[in-house]
Amino acid sequence: MVPVIWIRFFVHTLIVLMVVVPFFQHLESESEASSAIPTGFRPHLLLTRALPEPAMDQIVKLDRLVVARYTVRPYEDIYTLCQRTGLKQYAYTIRSSNDLDETPAAGTVLKIPNRIGTLFDVKTPQTLRELISGFEAGRQGGPSYEQDVLHLNDYPVLDFGGPRPQVKAGTTLFLPNAYKPTGLAFPFKDMRFRVTSGFNPKRRHPVLGVRRAHQGMDLARPYGDPVYPSRSGTVTFAGWQGGYGNMIEIRHVMRNGRVRYTRYGHLASILVHPGQHVGAGKLIGRVGSTGISTGPHLHFEVRDENGVARNPRRSL
Ligand SMILES: [Zn+2]
Repeated sequence: MVPVIWIRFFVHTLIVLMVVVPFFQHLESESEASSAIPTGFRPHLLLTRALPEPAMDQIVKLDRLVVARYTVRPYEDIYTLCQRTGLKQYAYTIRSSNDLDETPAAGTVLKIPNRIGTLFDVKTPQTLRELISGFEAGRQGGPSYEQDVLHLNDYPVLDFGGPRPQVKAGTTLFLPNAYKPTGLAFPFKDMRFRVTSGFNPKRRHPVLGVRRAHQGMDLARPYGDPVYPSRSGTVTFAGWQGGYGNMIEIRHVMRNGRVRYTRYGHLASILVHPGQHVGAGKLIGRVGSTGISTGPHLHFEVRDENGVARNPRRSL
């Protein structure tokens, strides 16, 4: 028999260890946090294990920034990934955070932050203000945006009176509500639309009743809703074009230097002219039902440098 006194000693030791050790660990992380200059993305912010499938929509509910890893499945594009995992608003976040111009290959490991915005790798040392001024959200948000970035990334709030510390090269920051120009975006400010018809080389045409390739995606939205460019570019066509009705075509140069054209058909009105350079936030037209169309929707099309239609989902 073990004497009672020894059992008590053992239990007390255990309690002391349970209380004191975490306390010292706490002190350690506190002293780490008090260093004045951001030194790099904190590894403890990362959820490094792949999450089981149902958890993808749970990470958005966490009250702090985490970055999940996700392995792309065969035949999966960013749009279907977002639909299936319940991250419907995250298409731009995922594309921008991973510098994706096109659908990644199956097996690619994506970083998915649980906030809307982008991960950003700092290439050259610069102050946080310089860094965020490269983004519309940063320019509009000013000093409070700077504070948000520091808080979200778990950096101590800096003394703004003193000399401005620089963010080191190699640091990864999360920038809320900001995006890098990557890939092509759905031509609306939000995701409130229905895809009524996808890219289909062998579709039976709903009006003409014959087999005719559907070269784009039909996005149903109310009549008159604003349409924006999929990415900044130059207008190459704006006017009436047969079955397209009122149509705009825009030429884009992607990150890798490739050229893509986007087309916006059945517009109620056109607000740009050929040769005009349009930024991603420029209102170019309004949803309509002109040309061969059964109701208000946008026919959205993506073509390569040779004018061959591609499935828009490969770039969205
Ligand atoms: Zn269509």
